[in-house]
Amino acid sequence: MLKRIYLSSPYTHREEMQFVKEAFDTNWLAPVGKNIDGLETEINAYINKGIEGMEYRSLALVSGTSALHLALKLAGIQPDETVFCSDSTYCATAFPVSYEGGKQVFIDAERNSWNMDPKALELAFQKYPKTRIVMFAHLYGTPGKMDELLDVCKRHDAILIEDAAEALSSSYHGRQCGTFGKYNAISFNGNKIITTSGGGMLITEDEATRQKALYLATQARQPVIWFEHSDIGYNYRMSNIIAGIGRGQMLHLDEHHAMKKHIYETYKEGFKGLPVSMNPIPSDCESNYWLSCILIDRGVDVKPMDILEKLKTVANAEGRPMWKPMHMQPVFAGSDCVSLEEKPVGTDLYERGLCLPSDLHMDDNDMKMIIETVKSCF
Ligand SMILES: *Cc1c(COP(=O)(O)O)cnc(C)c1O
Repeated sequence: MLKRIYLSSPYTHREEMQFVKEAFDTNWLAPVGKNIDGLETEINAYINKGIEGMEYRSLALVSGTSALHLALKLAGIQPDETVFCSDSTYCATAFPVSYEGGKQVFIDAERNSWNMDPKALELAFQKYPKTRIVMFAHLYGTPGKMDELLDVCKRHDAILIEDAAEALSSSYHGRQCGTFGKYNAISFNGNKIITTSGGGMLITEDEATRQKALYLATQARQPVIWFEHSDIGYNYRMSNIIAGIGRGQMLHLDEHHAMKKHIYETYKEGFKGLPVSMNPIPSDCESNYWLSCILIDRGVDVKPMDILEKLKTVANAEGRPMWKPMHMQPVFAGSDCVSLEEKPVGTDLYERGLCLPSDLHMDDNDMKMIIETVKSCF
């Protein structure tokens, strides 16, 4: 039996257990402690690289989804408010809008980075001019067209929330993803480039905003000794145990990034001559190469499902279809998707694209087998 090859599974080292053990040894099994502070400090140092005049501040939370929820709260989302949202993404970009009773209008992707199309966003503002909040996600670790998107937001006086869940260590014009929006989220879910098993962070522009989010994330407790509440809060703070896993992982973030890049480049080389292309990475950014994807050329009679099935049966390897666009999801039936094309780009990518095994445990032989398996489909 061939060993199982996963899409993107946790890749751990030795240091994680040392930080976790320290939490046990000192009895800090709580949503406060040295590992949480340490992880926040380390992320702050990482994301602020190359930024002058500002210092972004991170807040460790139970998930990336909770970070996006708090981002919407901070943006002041109101019931029934329309929020623009990336269409080609994981559900967690869109769901928090519904937690607050808001309504998503989805914005189609462009073909250069597979992220939200600034021109479609502009068109959406023509159609829904009162919109104040844009929920943007970087797909598969590749940064979107941030200059253009921020320019459109600025012209329409809108707030950008950046879902950088998949894009930790990716950068655009030398600036780290997670520092482009007014409120930003990253994720440490088990499948991401580094993990805490589950967890995430909200990234804010200053400490005062971070404190507001911390208040909401810890049940909105007033600063008095008895339990006094003037607002509805949430129990969203990260545990000191899992923050220890994150501290160990942070030591290897750049190494994981380099390994993901190697996987992408190996596939790209291996597929030369096949009627497929890789997920595009524009030259003005650095992707973290979180997932490697292929798009089957138009008119070729091979379906993503054919390849996925063969990967499973021949190589015991896990691939996935592309994120199914949000406007195609039954739960969002009837919602608008603003696109410049008759058939949204996201729909086309979904029909022709797939995510390849992008696991850090793969070696060159595993990748060779996957490449041969894909080749055999054509
Ligand atoms: C993983 C992911 C999230 C959510 O993160 P969790 O930590 O799993 O809640 C949000 N958005 C995108 C695009 C993601 O891929």
